[in-house]
Amino acid sequence: MKAEIITIGDEILLGQTVDTNSAWIAQNLVERQIYVEQITSITDTSTHIAAALTAAAERSDLIICTGGLGPTNDDITKQTAAHYFQTPLILNEEVMGHVQSIFDRYEKPMPEINRGQAMVLKNAEVLFNEWGTAPGMWVEHQGKIYVFLPGVPFEMKNLMTHWVLPRVADWRAVERVAIRYLVVAGIGESYLAEMIADIEQSMPEHIRLAYLPQFGLIKLRLNAAGSAADSLEREVEEWASRLSARIGSAVVATEDVPFQQVIVNAFTKEGCSLSTAESCTGGRLAAEITEIPGASAMFLGSIVAYDNDVKQKFLNVGANTLAKYGAVSGETVEEMAMGAKKVLGTTYAIATSGVAGPTGGTAAKPVGTVWIAVAGEKQVIKRKFQFKDDRVVNIQRTVANALLLLWELFRQERAL
Ligand code: ATP
Ligand code: MG
Repeated sequence: MKAEIITIGDEILLGQTVDTNSAWIAQNLVERQIYVEQITSITDTSTHIAAALTAAAERSDLIICTGGLGPTNDDITKQTAAHYFQTPLILNEEVMGHVQSIFDRYEKPMPEINRGQAMVLKNAEVLFNEWGTAPGMWVEHQGKIYVFLPGVPFEMKNLMTHWVLPRVADWRAVERVAIRYLVVAGIGESYLAEMIADIEQSMPEHIRLAYLPQFGLIKLRLNAAGSAADSLEREVEEWASRLSARIGSAVVATEDVPFQQVIVNAFTKEGCSLSTAESCTGGRLAAEITEIPGASAMFLGSIVAYDNDVKQKFLNVGANTLAKYGAVSGETVEEMAMGAKKVLGTTYAIATSGVAGPTGGTAAKPVGTVWIAVAGEKQVIKRKFQFKDDRVVNIQRTVANALLLLWELFRQERAL
């Protein structure tokens, strides 16, 4: 069973609405072992809608469309579908009664335009929408299934949950999918690709490997599709272990979890604690770590030391250090990390200081210069980074690299 999603609406193509419907539908189909092969977003024009339906039907068995079912002139999905299926639109009394009752409830007269909501494709089964006015429709046509749903995300989700997903759940037996993740830290994408090239090349056709890079991390997703669930699970497991053995200690997790989760788990297990002293990241590191449930077992606190006075007063950074080397320097972040470790009483501490931009750079320390230090049980490591001129990205990169540096020292000291 191959599925496809078509989202309809000018607002998506103008970039005003982010197409979250496709992501939600795809996730829910994959959970039921139904694979989405293509997602298409198109404008509200009958030519585009008809072309998209025709193309989708050539590739896929299940075609889910959202958007454009409303009563206004810009919503033309129903008219176009009627033409596409060569079927008329007919008035559905139950939907009409429902739309009328919504207006009755607010004691308002119903604008004539809303009668259009009750017009449904004659060849469709109506998916009654008690959460809104536009009904969904399920059409079986020349061996393909077409589902039309409103664009409003919560209405779409309710119709999917109540009508569509329970039905497609029965198709599970047809195709199975097994998925494994490997989270790899501290290796660039191309190095990693080179490292595992021969393994990747020897993978059979039905097993696919995807690289999903994030700042400082790469998630490898292995997925196997076929008909026998048990053997797929075994196979995908086998390939995951081969990759894992090759990549070695850079594999930090064998499930789809954020890196902070890996750190929280490992620190908790080892009985270690962490604090942060943050200048250019402004507390972002602390926020990322405390997003993980259970972080309180290892994270004690953070000092956001944006100003030099705060660095001196709360982290014991020396006035001389600041005067001699400046706030963005290896010497300063080292003292910040030591200060946080001592003041907050943790076994590990991270410190950040940098020129995030867009202004504030000098010839010696241009925008994007960032220093990170990590103080551990036995030593302090510090590193300089030279990022570019996007403030938000610089902060994200600093957070990612700070976590990687922490992980490096922690693993070294704990011999993991
Ligand atoms: P209704 O009958 O309730 O008007 P509709 O099918 O006409 O539903 P649209 O008018 O196309 O839906 O969209 C309604 C709202 O849903 C808009 O605010 C739009 O931004 C949002 N929306 C539409 N498509 C998507 C999508 N793919 N992802 C997220 N939001 C969407
Ligand atoms: Mg619309």
